[in-house]
Amino acid sequence: MTINPFKWLKRLLIRSTLIQHPIPRGIWHSLMHQARIFKGLNSVEKAHLRELSVLFLQNKNFIGAQQLQVTEEMKVAVAAQACLPILKLGLDYYDGWHDIILYPATFKVKRRVTDAIGLVSEQEQLLGGEAWSTGPVIVSWEQVKANLVEPKRGHNVVIHEFAHKLDMLNGVANGLPPLHSGMIRKEWTEAFNSAFSHLQFQTEHGLRPDIDPYAATSAAEFFAVCSEYFFRAPNQLFKKFPEVYQALSLFYRQNPLRRLTE
Ligand SMILES: [Zn+2]
Repeated sequence: MTINPFKWLKRLLIRSTLIQHPIPRGIWHSLMHQARIFKGLNSVEKAHLRELSVLFLQNKNFIGAQQLQVTEEMKVAVAAQACLPILKLGLDYYDGWHDIILYPATFKVKRRVTDAIGLVSEQEQLLGGEAWSTGPVIVSWEQVKANLVEPKRGHNVVIHEFAHKLDMLNGVANGLPPLHSGMIRKEWTEAFNSAFSHLQFQTEHGLRPDIDPYAATSAAEFFAVCSEYFFRAPNQLFKKFPEVYQALSLFYRQNPLRRLTE
């Protein structure tokens, strides 16, 4: 048997990082106990999530905006939720950028908006999170905290922003992340296009939307919001958009619906 020295060295580095920078037991257990999003993970999955979170924390740089003091608990809460979507994909999916900026609460951004007749204006928007291509992920700690304990049905700002990051792995965010070999692009686009059109029809005609109507604003937002539901309310996503659920299950290589029924 030949040993690849690079792989061997990488494994050695990972092992030493895991040993040297463990997540304190109390912080991890309190998060697992408190946050509903992790309920249903079995002990093997939780152990793997913890290891991924350690590596994530060593790879990423946390910055507190507006004098926010970023504590170990905050970092672990963000890391563990960010690592849930890549539990079966690997940390390489978050390569190419480093910073995570935490704001104490929602934050204002200025956006150039073009209206229907082509007039460009600058508008101020209040955001709970934002993800830049090859740049930082920005989230409001107030929202992260609220999502952990009392989530609005299906809502999770960390999953949302990190889903945008995955979407942007192959260019601009457009609701089509890089699919794995064996996944059929036509099946993905048909599932997403049909569900997206259905939701747009509901919002345009004042009908009760099947999921958060924010998903109807663009294909990229639809993918990010559906990813939130996939992990936080898989039963609702499966009931409303079963083909989208199946496509996400193939992409994330997870089946959170089964976790609810086990
Ligand atoms: Zn978004």
